[in-house]
Amino acid sequence: MNPDYENLKEEIEEWEEAECMDCGMAYGQAQEWQHYCPVCFKLDRGYKILVGDRHIVWLQQELLDERTIAEEEIEALKDAQKRLFKKARSLKEEVREAEEALEQANREFARLERDYERSRRVLAHKLAMGRNTRSNYDEFYDKIMDLVKLCHPDKHANSARATEMTKWLLSQR
Ligand SMILES: [Zn+2]
Repeated sequence: MNPDYENLKEEIEEWEEAECMDCGMAYGQAQEWQHYCPVCFKLDRGYKILVGDRHIVWLQQELLDERTIAEEEIEALKDAQKRLFKKARSLKEEVREAEEALEQANREFARLERDYERSRRVLAHKLAMGRNTRSNYDEFYDKIMDLVKLCHPDKHANSARATEMTKWLLSQR
């Protein structure tokens, strides 16, 4: 690179970017009192437009195009970000609903488990106590009383054996 180019770069390093008050394009502002890009300045004064000025216009257009593209990309990214946020919110909602459903299923399962345990105990009890359920007992009682009538001592000439068996039968009720 030509060392003079380096010098030029150094020279313009402190320039601020400004917007031309005429064409609205970007330009390097060397002094704060400058309000127009060099091209508009020269056109305003009727100065001769040189090839360098055409290059300035070309670069101004190029910069504008690049910035327009960048802005469009930023807008597209913002839209994508919005969509992602929306998606994240809806996913969070789905997770919350699923967690609620799971919690409810767990409660239902616990309730069924308690019901099952209770039913199992009732069944075990019924099996163990089968002989003593009310209907079985009623039948048993009736049969004992029939036997008591059949072997009553009155019907067996007051035999000691009949008396003894009647007492035994009555004790079995
Ligand atoms: Zn201008």
